[in-house]
Amino acid sequence: EVALSVPDKQVDSVCPYCGVGCQLTYNVKDNKILFVEGRDGPANQSRLCVKGRYGFDYAHHPHRLTKPLIRRAGMPKTGDFTMDPDRVLEVFREATWEEALALAGGKLATIRDTHGGNALAGFGSAKGSNEEAYLFQKLVRTGFGTNNVDHCTRLCHASSVSALLEGIGSGAVSNPVMDVTRAEVIVIIGANPTVNHPVAATWIKNAVRTGAKLILLDPRRSELARHAHRYLQFKPDTDVALLNAMMHVIVTEKLVDEAFIASRTIGYEQLEANVAEYSPEAMAPICGIDAETIRYVARLYATSKGSMILWGMGVSQHVHGTDNARCLIALALMTGQIGRPGTGLHPLRGQNNVQGASDAGLIPMMLPDYQRVDNPVARARFEAAWGATLDPKPGLTVVEIMDAIDHGQIKGMYIMGENPAMSDPDANHARASLAALEHLVVQDIFLTETAYLADVILPASAFPEKTGTFTNTDRLVQLGRQAIEPPGDAKQDLWIIQQIANRLGLPWNYGHVSEVFDEMRHTMASIGGITWDRLEKNGAVVYPCVNEGDVGQPVVFTELFPREGGKARFVPADIIPADERPDAEYPLILITGRQLEHWHTGSMTRRASVLDAIEPDPVALVHPLDMERMGITPGAPITIASRRGEVVLYARADDSSPVGAIFVPFCYYEAAINRLTNAALDPFGKIPEFKYCAIKVTPGGEV
Ligand code: SF4
Repeated sequence: EVALSVPDKQVDSVCPYCGVGCQLTYNVKDNKILFVEGRDGPANQSRLCVKGRYGFDYAHHPHRLTKPLIRRAGMPKTGDFTMDPDRVLEVFREATWEEALALAGGKLATIRDTHGGNALAGFGSAKGSNEEAYLFQKLVRTGFGTNNVDHCTRLCHASSVSALLEGIGSGAVSNPVMDVTRAEVIVIIGANPTVNHPVAATWIKNAVRTGAKLILLDPRRSELARHAHRYLQFKPDTDVALLNAMMHVIVTEKLVDEAFIASRTIGYEQLEANVAEYSPEAMAPICGIDAETIRYVARLYATSKGSMILWGMGVSQHVHGTDNARCLIALALMTGQIGRPGTGLHPLRGQNNVQGASDAGLIPMMLPDYQRVDNPVARARFEAAWGATLDPKPGLTVVEIMDAIDHGQIKGMYIMGENPAMSDPDANHARASLAALEHLVVQDIFLTETAYLADVILPASAFPEKTGTFTNTDRLVQLGRQAIEPPGDAKQDLWIIQQIANRLGLPWNYGHVSEVFDEMRHTMASIGGITWDRLEKNGAVVYPCVNEGDVGQPVVFTELFPREGGKARFVPADIIPADERPDAEYPLILITGRQLEHWHTGSMTRRASVLDAIEPDPVALVHPLDMERMGITPGAPITIASRRGEVVLYARADDSSPVGAIFVPFCYYEAAINRLTNAALDPFGKIPEFKYCAIKVTPGGEV
């Protein structure tokens, strides 16, 4: 019936899911999205994956929050989360916006005034627009009076960014994904683009078809292995061993680019000395790849006319995530494989706006445009722009905030569009911490597992219900346009943030979203040349774009790196083992990640009818040999336990993981796998070790 309907309007926007940033068109009738079509954007050229094409009807789901909610007096913050809308009103009562905002903002102000700004914290969202991220962090910094503001970048690429800022002076990609079509050699490590960046994967396959050699390095064999020139299934947790061995080959066989090293880098001598011990022969037993294969791929990478490296969470989500990224940076620098088309470093960004939210300062140690909060010059500039005094001390990160709640240091939080009760490691602990807050305000479109623990819930707008800019993994700032109205009394997120700000004493009165963007571009040099008019006309502009009229730079570092003296820096890395290794009691390894059809904690895609119909149940991917050994029948329930909790889900036979390693997506609320994961952090990026912890598996259990 819906398919036969004729749309009464078409609205050009971008996909709300992954960082590829596909442009699309919403076809709308009577305030309802009928269907979605791909548009000819720079990143997708009309292509869409299953999420972009079919994952839109969550916006119309009956579970949408349509009225502000206040927790009923005496209702404890315990018990199992429910998606049953009837039970929502057992826990919460409906309220007017005025009452909800007065309670939400009033209690935050009381905590600030009684205990100081550092007793508060805020989580913004990489699903929101740049303007929402910017206003949210400005609210926390100038209204709360703290730098305790973070978002899910802490859980995905914080370690990559940490290494990139240290090594090359910029946390963003050097080259767009599309540059794979200009590369001779494509190295993909710790990423599964077919599942997580599906349209990007199609460009990689196209590149292979026209002659590029794909080198895939991953403990899990993804679908791209079928297209790979070489696939190296190295042992989990041995990235540094493998990458240092590759560098050893490049150094000892004199395949380095001496001119590039001399003119554009510092610190090579330390790197050279460090990799001397990492011969392929010595590393082969550690990483499980034979020495000759290591030599072959190292030579191929170093000697091609253009080699590009792309990586994902398999690199970043380790206690040695920053070291892993340091090795990738060093590989590119020592061979001069950066600063030209078809080369460079591309950490594949997960969320559709994780790049933009980070750029906008939604991180505890950086003001917008990566200006450090402890840099007095940068701080003074923002103090003048914002008319406020800023805290010079970097704030706490996502996991640190949960620990600070336990210590009574953080007493109140404002969470916009994030779901830490599902996405944080050791989620049982995260839920207990959130429940222990004196005051929790959650702004979202559904009653998420986090909202279930809130004191006040503010019903917000879904992606197609608002206009704003979103920055994709290629540094493309793109315009998302409002296609439909929010349901019931749900409001635009920008309006809600401003209302909270007003109740904290900030006299904000932004009108159109373009006013916020205009303020951003006047405080952020990287996007200074991007005007709202230009975005409306072109739909997308790549940064750096400093002056109006600049075309923007898809490929950066062509002559200088944005570091002192313009030179990049080598940082050596040594092997650091995972925080929790398998033992007799917990003999297997847990690897978590995503599925093609579902997005992150599932709050949107599990309410998208087509996507949920394809993947309706919580599954664990288990190697057939492990199944046979443990007496597990495919499709039968299994119980997975770690030292932190247990879940029950269905076993699916899958030989992509190595024997002894179980893969579980983190999108299923019924079997929230992050109850099991380890909250140990990388010391630099403060990212948790989602990709490795010790578990045991037993057949049976009740899903
Ligand atoms: Fe959306 Fe990413 Fe799929 Fe493109 S590849 S349609 S941005 S989920």
